[in-house]
Amino acid sequence: MERIVREGYSYLLNHSALETVSHVVSLLEDDELFNAGTGSQIQSDGVVRMSASIQDGTSKKFAGVINIENVQNPVQVAKLLLNEDDAVLGGEGACRFAQKQGIPAYNPATAQRLAEYQEKRGKAGLGTVGCVALDADGKLAAATSTGGKGFEIPGRISDSATVAGNFVNDYCGVSCTGVGEDILRVALAAKIVTRVSDGQSMMDAYAKTFGELAEFDGFAGAIALDKHGNFGYRDSHPSMVFAAFDGLTLVLFE
Ligand code: ASP
Repeated sequence: MERIVREGYSYLLNHSALETVSHVVSLLEDDELFNAGTGSQIQSDGVVRMSASIQDGTSKKFAGVINIENVQNPVQVAKLLLNEDDAVLGGEGACRFAQKQGIPAYNPATAQRLAEYQEKRGKAGLGTVGCVALDADGKLAAATSTGGKGFEIPGRISDSATVAGNFVNDYCGVSCTGVGEDILRVALAAKIVTRVSDGQSMMDAYAKTFGELAEFDGFAGAIALDKHGNFGYRDSHPSMVFAAFDGLTLVLFE
């Protein structure tokens, strides 16, 4: 995590926030430790299906792929989709779009995930990745990528490629992890961003939104960054790991 955050910050010095969130999420997807890209969890029928989204806080353009198969970096497919009129593609359509863009076929299953699958034990809810960045022009962007909950019914839609799991505007960006069904129930990312945009402090926006999640004992975590560089972090998810770096101070929560 620390290596990736430092590398991501160096990249941000010469790239936009949008390019940076795609780059950082790709690095996280490539690390087997996380449940996104390589090392994604396997669904109940033995297939790896991944979801990812990306949003540009300035243009507000949002793009996502849901249940995509056989690609290395779902977030990069989502980024390519930003150039199209259609914002979110699912299943076969997402796979065909990736092929048409010349993205090579890739098997994201790892030996460890296959062993977990054989033993019928998923590490549910662990390891989705996300990044929010603020660039030198004051622009924000956010991206989130997941292999899902593990053992889900094929066709299940994750929050990660929706505005509940990933949302950003000119004021604030949020990326979420946890149980997608709980995140959707409170529109977690969109709510925090809206509250900060409407003038609430990051702390109050988090308190109010996580209070709504607590009403049904929801299981989620969210990272946030506002246009002033203030970051937010909270979870009801005991294993969320989070890092923030402004070039001087690295904050790491485990
Ligand atoms: N939110 C993801 C999902 O429900 C899982 C996770 O964050 O670990 O698909």
